Amino acid sequence: MIRKYNVSLKRYCTFKIGGCAKTICFPKTENEFLKEIFLCKNQSKKFFILGNGSNVLFHDEGFDGKIISTRLLNTISVCGENEIHCDAGVNLNVLCRYCAENGLKGIENLFGIPGSVGGAIMMNAGAFGCEICQFVKKIKILKDREIIEKSPTNFSYRKGPLGKDEILLSATFSLEKGIKQDILASQKLIMEKRKSSQPYGLPSAGSVFKRGKYFLPAKLIDEWGLKGLKKGGAMISDKHAGFIVNFDKAKSDDVLFLINYVEDYAKKRGYNFERELVVVK
Ligand SMILES: Cc1cc2nc3c(=O)[nH]c(=O)nc-3n(C[C@H](O)[C@H](O)[C@H](O)COP(=O)(O)OP(=O)(O)OC[C@H]3O[C@@H](n4cnc5c(N)ncnc54)[C@H](O)[C@@H]3O)c2cc1C
Repeated sequence: MIRKYNVSLKRYCTFKIGGCAKTICFPKTENEFLKEIFLCKNQSKKFFILGNGSNVLFHDEGFDGKIISTRLLNTISVCGENEIHCDAGVNLNVLCRYCAENGLKGIENLFGIPGSVGGAIMMNAGAFGCEICQFVKKIKILKDREIIEKSPTNFSYRKGPLGKDEILLSATFSLEKGIKQDILASQKLIMEKRKSSQPYGLPSAGSVFKRGKYFLPAKLIDEWGLKGLKKGGAMISDKHAGFIVNFDKAKSDDVLFLINYVEDYAKKRGYNFERELVVVK
């Protein structure tokens, strides 16, 4: 187990924004992970489970508790016919590459999402018409103090099967047989699509708002001429209106200002924008 104290959270999120955390720890095994969670629960200590930090905004005031990072929980293996078992911290790109290496296809469209398996299942991450829920066969979770294994069915758009206070420990994915070179070629194509439509060169946390039932926030933001709107070091991306980017040492308040501004702007026009981004205080 690695522990660090008073560490800047900028280093642990793709937005590169945030103050310090009192403690951040990196369990290396499921047992260490569980011990750390139970320790916090027993002492009624505030804690936050952090995957790859690609869907979070940390406040500049920092986090007055313990961050438990899943980054080192990264065991991955083939198990059973066309199945892969992963710890919660396995990076989605590592999972996609591993699938390719083992001639297993299905999840290519998720290549390039910079999250962990835990974060992706939590949010039911998806891209290019594909969602992670299509491949999740089984999950192992911690619910209160009980470890449960189940086949989840209750996924919906950008909402995973985990209830409040449930923590993903590991997952099993079911895939199909494929040809390594074809899978790698699909992944390459997907990455090119991403790079051409998303602001990859600047820190961000991906799409800020969820798609509505009858509208696309990014499309509306674009139509309203809000692309390029700046506050401090944060800007509504001029490449993809659904992203806010940190172009120059943005503060969390800069980002929150832009989020609130867009939400108010949308509300006045009859739209209720729901946040995909998780704001951590
Ligand atoms: C450039 C860029 C492109 C992106 N493109 C996409 C895209 O195409 N599609 C898409 O869906 N998303 C996209 N995202 C958003 C993000 O990558 C995904 O939502 C991803 O699944 C988040 O995973 P994470 O590990 O980074 O989660 P984090 O940001 O670390 O955490 C997000 C939430 O999940 C919770 N969490 C993390 N691990 C666990 C666990 N083990 N158990 C319980 N809760 C957990 C956290 O507590 C937090 O509430 C993009 C982000 C960026 C920066």
